Amino acid sequence: LEAKEEFSHKTRAMDVMRPRKNDPPLTVITQDSMSVEDVETIVSSTTYSGYPVVVSRTSQRLVGFVLRRDLIISIENARKKQDGIVSTSVICFTDYCPPLPPSSPSVLKLRSILDLSPFTVTDETPMEIVVDIFRKLGLRHFSFSRKLLGIITKKDVLKHIAQMANQDPDSILFN
Ligand code: ADP
Repeated sequence: LEAKEEFSHKTRAMDVMRPRKNDPPLTVITQDSMSVEDVETIVSSTTYSGYPVVVSRTSQRLVGFVLRRDLIISIENARKKQDGIVSTSVICFTDYCPPLPPSSPSVLKLRSILDLSPFTVTDETPMEIVVDIFRKLGLRHFSFSRKLLGIITKKDVLKHIAQMANQDPDSILFN
């Protein structure tokens, strides 16, 4: 995203963020109800560079953002080095992890890899501001509304700018 390009279209974040109308829902991880196996399946069946962490699938309330590479490394390490971590271990991103019955496997605590204040705006935000946020804050992605609506990456914005340029070359201004 070159700082010198001026983005002057009237689109809003909701027109660019994912998921689009007929896409499958956002891939999220819940804060304290998924097993090691559940998360490994998500990581191996998708290629996203990160996943929003939500309170529960039904609430979709955003609690943080976790990077794919951090998840992979942490789970791999825990499986090798941490006693009692198995496929059925629950992964917990919360501060306080509720105690499980004595017979259950150890809990894998991963709060330390959670970004607790991922950047969030509403989906009404003009794309002009979204482009500015990517430039000025040097982000790679961010989310929409605390009740999770979608995600946008820098590449989504670059593709959108290119698309706009094809449709209407005069409306992207180069200084
Ligand atoms: P990039 O856009 O840089 O390739 P990603 O691989 O993370 O980054 O994302 C690929 C596409 O999937 C983007 O359009 C992005 O908005 C979307 N996306 C990113 N994370 C998720 C997710 N957890 N669930 C669903 N879609 C996602």
